[in-house]
Amino acid sequence: MTDLEAFRRHVRDWIAANYPDSLRGPLLPDGDDTPWGGRKTVYANPDVPLWMERMGAKGWSRPEWAPEHGGAGLAPDEARVLREELAAAGCRPPVFSFGLLMLAPVLHEFASEPQKRRFLPPIARGEIRWCQGYSEPGAGSDLAGLKTRAEDHGDHWLVNGQKIWTSYADWSDWMFCLVRTDAESKHGGISFLLIDMTTPGVETRPIQLISGQSPFCEVFFTDVRVPKENLVGKPGEGWKIAKRLLQFERAGISAQVQSGTGGTPRGTSLADLAKRYCGEDGGRIADAQVREQVAKHEMHSEAIGLTLRRVEAESGKAGPTAASSITKALGAKHNKDKFELMLGIMGQAALGWEGDPFDIEEIEICRQWLRSKGNSIEGGTSEIQANIVAKQVLGLPD
Ligand SMILES: Cc1cc2nc3c(=O)[nH]c(=O)nc-3n(C[C@H](O)[C@H](O)[C@H](O)COP(=O)(O)OP(=O)(O)OC[C@H]3O[C@@H](n4cnc5c(N)ncnc54)[C@H](O)[C@@H]3O)c2cc1C
Repeated sequence: MTDLEAFRRHVRDWIAANYPDSLRGPLLPDGDDTPWGGRKTVYANPDVPLWMERMGAKGWSRPEWAPEHGGAGLAPDEARVLREELAAAGCRPPVFSFGLLMLAPVLHEFASEPQKRRFLPPIARGEIRWCQGYSEPGAGSDLAGLKTRAEDHGDHWLVNGQKIWTSYADWSDWMFCLVRTDAESKHGGISFLLIDMTTPGVETRPIQLISGQSPFCEVFFTDVRVPKENLVGKPGEGWKIAKRLLQFERAGISAQVQSGTGGTPRGTSLADLAKRYCGEDGGRIADAQVREQVAKHEMHSEAIGLTLRRVEAESGKAGPTAASSITKALGAKHNKDKFELMLGIMGQAALGWEGDPFDIEEIEICRQWLRSKGNSIEGGTSEIQANIVAKQVLGLPD
């Protein structure tokens, strides 16, 4: 038996002994079982943090990372075998967090070694939950217009200002934040600062949305003292780091949309949903128009999936590039189209908000249809993605 085969056997046995049965089945979007990690997150199922803890102890949530950074130091072949076995056993990701998807990649590229050793292990193990402090009331698409100030006070930065649309700020332990350290230079005056949300002067106020949820907050900073060593990169390097992080964010959103492209949040395929609400005729969807719409959607899913794989293959080890804007914008439109199609298929049943006569899947689809409207705004609007693609991918003039 080769070392790799022995490793595969070890992984298989370990999963059989350690994967909690209660985590079988799909992970519902925005549900109580999302493994966000952190000190404040409350889970409906205690096996979610248990799985996080077990995988974290092995360093297997990011197996290629060095052990001192919270990984297991696995060789690429071993990490591939581990992923194959986890997928074959239907295991959910142990951690799904902004820290892991967005912050960690830029820490790897831009942080000092002491910063990596301090911040990466708790991200990998899901111990600290991060939020993203980019947008401000006057700075969304024009992000470089941000005004939150960080003044140099010798051993610390003094931060004053406001962020908005900060997803889950009230549940987060830390924020990666864009601040202005120089008022004279629009892009060159931005810095990338890590802020502990328990620091005196940080206040979060949740914003209620049409979906009934409050996933966003306004965050206010009043004379917040942030240690000097929490700045990533040099003062004024924040714009470069911010843009790189957005590429990881957009690639992450694209992959997430793609993984849920086939059907409902519970994993029912569009074809099965259509048969349930429009009837079945010899194994086919009875309504010819709906049949055509579902077939078109599935073809688009396939085409987007292939494009995603091509973009990933082209960027290779260097990670995401500006092409992540293509897949992000495509994915946003596709997901919104999918929910519109599901609503059309379900008719009045799609009006379910809560209680009888609607079942849980109908309620989830209705709420996620509303949530999908944000897809073409979050992580940068689709218009902004089109601008990036025009300039940075196609090389068109300004
Ligand atoms: C679900 C969701 C989660 C979010 N989470 C976070 C978060 O965690 N942290 C965070 O910092 N932010 C977050 N945001 C905010 C998000 O990044 C901003 O909403 C987004 O960048 C757009 O900014 P804005 O809302 O200020 O709109 P604006 O920038 O005011 O844009 C308004 C409209 O004008 C268009 N427009 C603006 N400029 C141009 C241009 N140059 N060319 C063409 N069209 C243009 C836009 O496309 C848009 O249609 C989130 C948003 C959503 C919907």
